Amino acid sequence: MSSKVLNELNVYECAEARFEAAAAKLGLEDGLYRYLKYPNKEITIYIPVTMDDGRLEMFTGYRVQHSLVRGPGKGGIRYAPDVTLDEVRALASWMTWKCAVVNIPFGGAKGGVICDPEKMSVRELERMTRRYTAELSDFIGPERDVPAPDLGTNEKVMAWIMDTYSMHMRHTVTAVVTGKPLDLGGSRGRREATGRGVLMVCDRAIEKLNMRRETCRVIIQGFGNVGSMAATLMSEAGYKIIGLADIHGALFNEKGFDIAAVADWVHVKHKPLPEFPGGGTKMTGQELLFQPCDILIPAAVENQITSKNAHRVQTKILCEGANGPTTPLADDILREKDVFILPDILANAGGVTVSYFEWVQDRGGFFWRESEVNERLKDVMERSFDEIVRYAESHGVNNRIAAYMVAIDRVAFALKLRGLYA
Ligand code: NAD
Repeated sequence: MSSKVLNELNVYECAEARFEAAAAKLGLEDGLYRYLKYPNKEITIYIPVTMDDGRLEMFTGYRVQHSLVRGPGKGGIRYAPDVTLDEVRALASWMTWKCAVVNIPFGGAKGGVICDPEKMSVRELERMTRRYTAELSDFIGPERDVPAPDLGTNEKVMAWIMDTYSMHMRHTVTAVVTGKPLDLGGSRGRREATGRGVLMVCDRAIEKLNMRRETCRVIIQGFGNVGSMAATLMSEAGYKIIGLADIHGALFNEKGFDIAAVADWVHVKHKPLPEFPGGGTKMTGQELLFQPCDILIPAAVENQITSKNAHRVQTKILCEGANGPTTPLADDILREKDVFILPDILANAGGVTVSYFEWVQDRGGFFWRESEVNERLKDVMERSFDEIVRYAESHGVNNRIAAYMVAIDRVAFALKLRGLYA
């Protein structure tokens, strides 16, 4: 196993470092270690697209299937100018562990196309998506690999992928992607799922730590899908949200926010969050992370809590709504401060869990009430929380390493049961 110096701000190196630490703790045998470290398949596609002005442009796209041991691949497709194969590879393995932590029958995969969706027209994006999908049609599918939205892609892109794949199969195949519009086989509750999962694991954590919702002060960085849903649902559940941030800056208010009014300000009126009238003390999104609170929820971007600032964190619980907000070096400092960590591969797994429900509903052709989706999500999140925390306690490791250990162990066990073909 490697012992290179960690670049703390490279999220992919950080994910790898955690895999290595967990594999070492598990005493994973060398062959299995190598099998799980490398992806199953990497596909590179050169995508010709006729642009609106008649030019022919070439784009490069990837799909990496890290593991198909526990089921079809699962993972988003991102459209961004800085996509690299390395990044897609790392994100694919991250998905393997996340699906295994919540014990849903998927492996891990990820896709990406190097492009700038902001600078492309809707028609150009559609042509690029359709060609990328057509080239991938032998590798994706409900039983093979099921993409979903990620950075720069959305419901509309999923609808194009579903349509293109269906044309190739000669019949409608809704289960080839998740995160679709509700009218095309999407699931009720998917939009809220990640934020709802955050609420569910926080509920479990405060119960364990003998805290009460009403006296819990919560700070949330990020007011997009995950952050604003977590804020809305947690405030409805009785938590006091005392700090909020988006890309424009942060507001801190000990008295607590009226989240419906903030959501209206940001999402309906399209105003910057820090300008919310009577909102409290303005500060930067980073500064907000260091204010005293009971639950801190980074739900924006990666690398927010590092070895440089972790000593300033003043929370009892850190719940990672975002992917990779805390670096491994920061983990060491937080452990000394006795912060209870809900790691990203558990805390934000509500999204992939309801994606799994979407796939199940599409394949069954029968759609659930929102209350059924939420009830099943609760079962998954609470069971996963209990398993990880119990494992951490019984093995003397932190929750994050426990989550990786449980995940790696599940995949390795499935692999052993299946055996190697040829
Ligand atoms: P989003 O684009 O809807 O929202 C991001 C929010 O973060 C916005 O409010 C934006 O203004 C804010 N932001 C961006 N940079 C910031 C900064 N430097 N400081 C403070 N705020 C900043 O994205 P999202 O879907 O909510 O995803 C947020 C995070 O959660 C990402 O790490 C994503 O990978 C992760 N995640 C999302 C889902 C999901 O279902 N959407 C599932 C799992 C994980």
